[in-house]
Amino acid sequence: MKLIFERSVSGRRTHLTPKSTFPSKELPQALARAKQPKLPEMSEVAISRHYTQLAKQTFGVNNGFYPLGSCTMKYNPRVNEAVAALPGFARMHPLQPKATVSGCREVLDTARAHLCEITGMDDMTFQPAAGAHGEYVGLLLMKQYHQSRGDHKRTRVLIPDSAHGTNPASASMVGFTVTHIPSDVEGCVDLKALKAALDDTVAGLMLTNPNTVGIFDPNILDITRLVHDAGGLNYYDGANLNAIMGWVRPGDMGFDVIHLNLHKTFSTPHGGGGPGAGPVGCKKLLSGFLPMSHMGSRIWEGEKPDSVGQVRAFYGNFLVVVRALTYILTLGKEGIPQASGMAVLNANYLMHKVKDAFPLAYDRICMHEFVLTLESVRKETGVSALDVAKCLLDYGMHPPTMYFPLVVKEALMVEPTETENRETLDEAAEVLLAIREMTKTRPEKLHLCPNTTPIGRPDEVGAARNPRVRYQFPD
Ligand SMILES: *Cc1c(COP(=O)(O)O)cnc(C)c1O
Repeated sequence: MKLIFERSVSGRRTHLTPKSTFPSKELPQALARAKQPKLPEMSEVAISRHYTQLAKQTFGVNNGFYPLGSCTMKYNPRVNEAVAALPGFARMHPLQPKATVSGCREVLDTARAHLCEITGMDDMTFQPAAGAHGEYVGLLLMKQYHQSRGDHKRTRVLIPDSAHGTNPASASMVGFTVTHIPSDVEGCVDLKALKAALDDTVAGLMLTNPNTVGIFDPNILDITRLVHDAGGLNYYDGANLNAIMGWVRPGDMGFDVIHLNLHKTFSTPHGGGGPGAGPVGCKKLLSGFLPMSHMGSRIWEGEKPDSVGQVRAFYGNFLVVVRALTYILTLGKEGIPQASGMAVLNANYLMHKVKDAFPLAYDRICMHEFVLTLESVRKETGVSALDVAKCLLDYGMHPPTMYFPLVVKEALMVEPTETENRETLDEAAEVLLAIREMTKTRPEKLHLCPNTTPIGRPDEVGAARNPRVRYQFPD
């Protein structure tokens, strides 16, 4: 398909707005462009066709089943968008006089109260703009806590080997060194290894539960107690609360600090770079360290001398919080556990339908997602996880996450989500079983998939190393 710049024809215009009746003013010469901007020149109908064609070639949750793992909710109810678009929210300016923003302030306070209740935390900041940013802030709180007690030896953070890649990255950005804790055969924290790693140089543990392979760690209370007994704090990576919200609370599991990904669990479309919100919740003992500054998250409460400081402009991504609060209020107290219950039920239902065809990485009840390992299929038939993922596209299904988590070979990570009905799951299972048959009868065909998409197998390494995200003008 042609790019919009390639469709441009010099002189083409879309003139639909009437001429302004206001006198126009020339810009000062110093502020004016030296050259015309290089904008595409097109008629309105050509623009409309261009974007409609682009939209048709995109696969989104509105096109079909989208079981991308470790990505949480996919379908975002439209009412959340409608509320976030209300002018009273969308047109606010962060520098407006305080007296004119009491409604927005109430949104933040109410969302904070609900999210603290859902997570079992006492306090929360909305400043961080994403999950990784939240991790960074949460770890700053941890660091500040130890330093405020004069405990300067604590420089290590323990992180399981199955953790999301942002966990060790955030820990080292805060200046901690990372000690990896191996998983046991069930994909959970190896308690022996944890005990061996604990001493008075440990600042804390970073964990997510259910973990990155979709398993709820049954030893969680022992794990957090061991860390507390050694003087460390427990950090909960709450990016994916979809499996547990309304059922168990990280605060009750022994965690002291947590980040949430509102853009994953509380309804903001995510992927493609934002906007997001990674609010950080904490227990009372860390509350005094939360971000705070002149333009901080709670300007109306006065300064906090021990705050880690400002981590983002103004109040964070406010409209993401509006969507989250809308979602929470529309679901209500019954709807929240129902949503996570459906996410878990759907994952287990699909897992049982396909596990005889494709082996499970961990054969036990899963949470909101499950991981298949195609290592044996590949050895037997030469068909890889990539081939199966590509073939799914020909069936009108978005592929699961591939080759993640790293601890599983030839991994396909499937997350059906809470919004899919039984018919869709049945169809998806049938497709996966049909592909498994093909691996035995016509494996060579699978190496050629997909056949129905405009782009089939791009050079992904090349695209990641040399991204060309801007049109290269010929002159
Ligand atoms: C997505 C994710 C993150 C990072 O969140 P971003 O908003 O992408 O920065 C961290 N941890 C887990 C478990 C995640 O799934």
